[in-house]
Amino acid sequence: MPVKAAVLWKANTPLEIVDLTQQGPQAGEARVVVKAAGICHSDWHIMNGDWMPPLPMVLGHEAAGIVEEVGAGVVNVKPGDHVIFSFRPHCGRCLYCSIGRSILCDGYTSARWGMLDGTYRLKKDGQDIYQMARIGTFSERVVCAAEMLVPIRPEMPWPQAALVGCCVPTGVGAVTRCAQVETGASVLVVGCGGVGLNVVQGARLAGASIIAAADLLDNKLVYAKEFGATHTFSASKDNVVDKVRELTAGRGVDYAFDAIGGEATTLQILDAIRPGGTAVIVGMAAMNVRAPIAPYFMALQEKAIKGTMYGSVRPNLDFPKLVDLYLDGRLKIDELVSRTYTLDQINEGFAALRSGQVARGVVVFN
Ligand SMILES: [Zn+2]
Ligand SMILES: [Zn+2]
Repeated sequence: MPVKAAVLWKANTPLEIVDLTQQGPQAGEARVVVKAAGICHSDWHIMNGDWMPPLPMVLGHEAAGIVEEVGAGVVNVKPGDHVIFSFRPHCGRCLYCSIGRSILCDGYTSARWGMLDGTYRLKKDGQDIYQMARIGTFSERVVCAAEMLVPIRPEMPWPQAALVGCCVPTGVGAVTRCAQVETGASVLVVGCGGVGLNVVQGARLAGASIIAAADLLDNKLVYAKEFGATHTFSASKDNVVDKVRELTAGRGVDYAFDAIGGEATTLQILDAIRPGGTAVIVGMAAMNVRAPIAPYFMALQEKAIKGTMYGSVRPNLDFPKLVDLYLDGRLKIDELVSRTYTLDQINEGFAALRSGQVARGVVVFN
């Protein structure tokens, strides 16, 4: 079947919209008609060469759509189901799946840009085209492992459903699943893009008392207020660490989250937490970034630092819950969808992401 998709042929070149040939779903796989796909910094990390998986690749990993066809043996989804893509598989057998940490699933040894059995479904003129995170959702239709699809209530609107595939669980889960922030805690969030704003609203859902948010851009601080920040600081004008200490009797916050990922922000969240506090790295840095921590102070002040991937969520459990919270009016997702694009306009969407103009841009398919 022919499908139109956005392909990255080479780092630091625009995505090209091309017609590919797609093989149908094999055993354990499904074909999904994509309805909406969010534009995320993780896609950009591949486009700009920060991360170097093999190319050519269809990017995109935050999406929702309708199941069209399933291969042999698929029982978790059926044609007509509305689904959100999870960009991690869930074998159900490995240590990590068994202990409820399926984001770390190591049940498959095949490359992370093809099917679970190590084969590929997309071709252009006989050449294999890879799928980012085994899904590659900047495509009219996606064939992927059915276990990477989470069925949801059909009343969920598409662009909002798409964001429950990456930025919403990554941000909210960092608070509720990874850090397990308790009611009344004080929180700092560094970086108020798609993920950071979800850390802010995750802190709100968890009942944090102080939710301080920092960003270089003033428009992002306006968004942060809207998502529940109690205090906002300009990282370009204020000393953020001094400001949060002023708010917390000089001690620092209980929890600080780095929604950007990088040397300066990692060190900043460690400085901003009180002794005994927890710093959480949420944003994905370039692979070569290193941050020099001070082991002496980590020990002396009993500070903890944790990383979280995908908000440490359990997609099958947490995506439907996030959908319920949105449909009940307790989770803001409409406000995240700043702009929509057609697939042909996708490079404009990345330009807007780079300039920080949007909370989230979403490609909407007909
Ligand atoms: Zn993402
Ligand atoms: Zn597993």
